[in-house]
Amino acid sequence: MGLLTFKGGIHPYDGKDLSKEKPIKKLLPKGELVYPLSQHIGAPANPVVQKGDHVKVGQVIAEAGGFVSAPIHASVSGTVKGIEPRLTVTGTMAKAIIVENDNQYETVEYEAVDSLESLSKEEIIKKVQAAGIVGMGGAGFPTHVKLSPREPDKIEYILVNGAECEPYLTSDYRRMLENPEWVIGGLKVILQLFDRAKGYICIEDNKPDCIAKMTELTKGESRIEVKPLKTKYPQGAERCLIHATTGRDVNSSMLPADAGCIVDNIDTVVAIHHAVMWGQPLMHRVVTVTGDCVKDPRNFEICTGTNYEELVEEAGGLKMEPEKIIVGGPMMGNAVYGLKLPSTKTSSALLFLSKDEVSASPETACINCGKCVTGCPANLIPSRLATYAENHNEEAFVKWEGMECVACGCCSFSCPAKRPLTQAIKSMRAMVLANRKKKA
Ligand code: SF4
Ligand code: SF4
Repeated sequence: MGLLTFKGGIHPYDGKDLSKEKPIKKLLPKGELVYPLSQHIGAPANPVVQKGDHVKVGQVIAEAGGFVSAPIHASVSGTVKGIEPRLTVTGTMAKAIIVENDNQYETVEYEAVDSLESLSKEEIIKKVQAAGIVGMGGAGFPTHVKLSPREPDKIEYILVNGAECEPYLTSDYRRMLENPEWVIGGLKVILQLFDRAKGYICIEDNKPDCIAKMTELTKGESRIEVKPLKTKYPQGAERCLIHATTGRDVNSSMLPADAGCIVDNIDTVVAIHHAVMWGQPLMHRVVTVTGDCVKDPRNFEICTGTNYEELVEEAGGLKMEPEKIIVGGPMMGNAVYGLKLPSTKTSSALLFLSKDEVSASPETACINCGKCVTGCPANLIPSRLATYAENHNEEAFVKWEGMECVACGCCSFSCPAKRPLTQAIKSMRAMVLANRKKKA
């Protein structure tokens, strides 16, 4: 079986053994649920409930704030306690709807369909939009927008991203193993929108059981293929995945659709299946709670809005004090300093690590070893870009393609001098984008 891959990348310790063998456990929240109005790319959602209102599971509590936006649904039944600013994982305050859970799980009626073929393309996209689906791999881009490219006839590949290349994360692995029919069902929904496209289910070869299961279940499906990928971080990064599976390249000024591709992660495809076939909005997702400090690392299917504190409790609590807590994967996630934070549609993991490798190793001078260049999947020279960033040399940073950085963290990981390359390049990139916005 030929393995597909890309140039560059790294092989960090993967830590997946901690949680991969345990089945997904459904977690019912105990306390209040917090729904930030901005948990997607685009305009924040607008509340349509007010303090004191009773809400049911699946009820819209905030409407999309525009086309590039997504509605938010209650994941429990209960009473709206208020609409107020709450701290989010990025360290910023965001307006949020707070719902006191009544533990009754009174649910709105969903409109299921008997067959996918009975729906028009417009009806499918409307169902995805109404369900509030956004990219659940982390970016949070509204899915109905992604599924509405300017030239749908030019879409040739639908890539289901089952690479799960971030260390420690096993939520996609468990989903593919436990509910493969939902993944395949979601892919079939997307294929219904694009007549010329083939569907690829892309999985790293460290998940041979998922590859075998998907291959078996898609036997005889002429439009679907399983694509085994070489295990290497960041194989699941959109551009690396597109290159590995189609040989096409996407840069920072392009969308995957410009290269004839649409990429969706596993949980997003599952959400598409549930929305279109069952009429169920996005209110649940799988989150990995793991790390060497956690007593019982595992995956939970959570109600969005659940407090992170409850997730750790359900994982048996901590067996030792963590030096670092990360929301998301260790390479691209956000370090956090407390757990009074709400999970959202894009929460993939919660990690508790006993060692903070970064703070444990002081930065020294660059020794020009070139390891950061070898590891960079975007073909950049991170050592040089970081120096331009440190000197605020915007012109040279842009000239040397700093805007093509995908913030994967490979350069910082590879650097023996422990230079904070990714952070420097990421900050400079954000500054250039902000300056461009100001000038526009
Ligand atoms: S420069 Fe950017 S893309 Fe290249 S390795 Fe560093 S973080 Fe990744
Ligand atoms: S990996 Fe670190 S030490 Fe080596 S060239 Fe890059 S910045 Fe310098």
